[in-house]
Amino acid sequence: EQKVVPVFPWFAIDIGGTLVKLVYFEPLDLTPDEIRTEGEILMNIRHYLTSNRAYGQDGFRDDDLELTDIELGGRRGNLHFIRFPTARMSIFLDLCIMKNLHTLTFQVFATGGGAYKFENDAVNKLKLQWCKCDELGTLIKGLSYLSKLNPNECFYYEEPQNDANLNKHTFNFDIKNPFLLVNIGSGVSILHVESETNYRRISGTSIGGGTFLGLSCLLTGCSSYDEAIKLATEGDSTKVDKLVKDIYGGDYERFGLPGHIVASSFGHMNLPEKREQATKSDLARATLVTVLNNIGSISMMCAQTENVDRILFSGSFLRINDLSMRILAYAMDYWSRGKVKAIFLEHEGYFSAVGCLREFIM
Ligand code: ADP
Repeated sequence: EQKVVPVFPWFAIDIGGTLVKLVYFEPLDLTPDEIRTEGEILMNIRHYLTSNRAYGQDGFRDDDLELTDIELGGRRGNLHFIRFPTARMSIFLDLCIMKNLHTLTFQVFATGGGAYKFENDAVNKLKLQWCKCDELGTLIKGLSYLSKLNPNECFYYEEPQNDANLNKHTFNFDIKNPFLLVNIGSGVSILHVESETNYRRISGTSIGGGTFLGLSCLLTGCSSYDEAIKLATEGDSTKVDKLVKDIYGGDYERFGLPGHIVASSFGHMNLPEKREQATKSDLARATLVTVLNNIGSISMMCAQTENVDRILFSGSFLRINDLSMRILAYAMDYWSRGKVKAIFLEHEGYFSAVGCLREFIM
């Protein structure tokens, strides 16, 4: 089908349960005519967005993820990646008014649950055309687009357990062969993908990134994701979890369960002396490992039922979270005896937003 390329500005917004992901296309090939008609408001927005890395208290531009000088909808430009907490959505809308965006009419491409929840608010406060689309469709569309555009998008770890040399490699991803897509956001969705248009949501779990963050805040008193990850990196989960060897004194040989496997997540915490010994970092680490063990085993079951050998992990839960990627990579390799490969993505949580932009701008 032939699509009409919308006029600038090009924004897509993915409003999730925890984070808003905003992608902005900054055109580099504006004609003198376009510059004249762009007007002061849009020019100011363009400069504001592209010259800052932080917006207010909680807005950030991930400049290391920026894609420079790309082609989109027949235009050349830079693609910017911006995020802020969904809890700040109404402050964001007020900021748009402060920047006079409410005096302009343009299209905004919206996805995620918040595309529905915040539609009235956005349309009432701003004069926008709010174009919604489904978050899982856009997730796959975004993945397909970025994995072709960015040669370094997909990667895997050859030796996830080797601290000295992880052996991080680029993975040559081909969307044509079936694979599992595990999106770890606030909650988790598991999709079986056969092509860009042929996919099913086969499973999911409510124990996801939101669980890690929520429980970490409760157990350690920390107040941000970045803090929780830092604590987890320094901690030791075996101070908190009961392992097979804590029960057997060694391996459970009859069923091939090695002693170092977790038998019971948080299983030590019934004893006062164990509770005293466990630090905040240990608790954060155990929370991370508990969430990952659960996601890992559900993903592995799905991979076996669907008979696929590649699992792609996306979602902002993997942001600044090498630790979790290595734990997942090791677990997939171990439990599948090397048959199933875990693949990770540079743009983690931004695929739905990118796919949403693609939906409207071909
Ligand atoms: P959603 O669309 O449900 O908001 P995301 O893919 O954006 O899902 O992932 C949200 C999860 O990402 C959070 O639950 C948390 O574990 C993690 N996360 C990463 N960075 C942040 C951050 N700056 N603030 C809050 N959570 C973050």
